[in-house]
Amino acid sequence: MDIYRLPALSDNYIFLLHDPGHNIAAVVDPAEPYPVLEKLESLKAKLVTIFNTHHHSDHVGGNQRLIQKFPQLTVYGGVEDRGRIPGQKVFLQEGDRVQFADRVGQVFFVPGHTSGHIAYYFPPVSSGDTGELFCGDTLFAGGCGRLFEGTPAQMVDSLSKLRNLPDNTRFWCAHEYTLKNLQFAMTVDEQNPELQKRFAEVKAARSRNEATVPSTIGVEKLTNPFMGWDRKSLQLVMKSQDPVQTFARLRGMKDRF
Ligand code: ZN
Ligand code: FE
Repeated sequence: MDIYRLPALSDNYIFLLHDPGHNIAAVVDPAEPYPVLEKLESLKAKLVTIFNTHHHSDHVGGNQRLIQKFPQLTVYGGVEDRGRIPGQKVFLQEGDRVQFADRVGQVFFVPGHTSGHIAYYFPPVSSGDTGELFCGDTLFAGGCGRLFEGTPAQMVDSLSKLRNLPDNTRFWCAHEYTLKNLQFAMTVDEQNPELQKRFAEVKAARSRNEATVPSTIGVEKLTNPFMGWDRKSLQLVMKSQDPVQTFARLRGMKDRF
């Protein structure tokens, strides 16, 4: 399975999964149709699947047009998003399995950003391989999604599921927010040498207009404050000993940053 990262709108990424053996493709969160149609054209591949993580328009905006072009394709999304995702055919919940090419994906229910948000995790097939996680707007490189339809407790629970994945898991989040996220992270965790190093690297990468997605779960555990609700040093800065309150205060600060 090859993964292509397609820039869309102002700061979204669409991910296109390609099975070169069968010349079929799946797409994760098509914000708009044209980057997808263009890539399919150049690969001469047929789109068979749309995997949606949640109902926001910058994630499902391309569904309708892609369905028109490939009427046989199947649209997957969370069961709680029933009625909110154009063309949705399959209604997924925690623990469900999805398949694309030779990979079987697991579904995580990760509410917080929205009430019906799901993530797709494709474990490695052979040793030396990495797992691939498509997490929409739940976990970002250096940050996490805003709580539009969920509580801090729900988001901590959702992020815990992702944090439990192997450190080398690559995750593909739907926005290029990393630099801004790390600027915020530095205001609450500036003594963290791993964070300092990453901030410098990301600044350099963005000045060359390079993408910072995918990142890995291991990198986030070391540098993303939104994965550090139980870290003593962050709890001290947030003046709380409670993990959920620590997370809630961080999220509140970031919303005003
Ligand atoms: Zn969203
Ligand atoms: Fe989004």
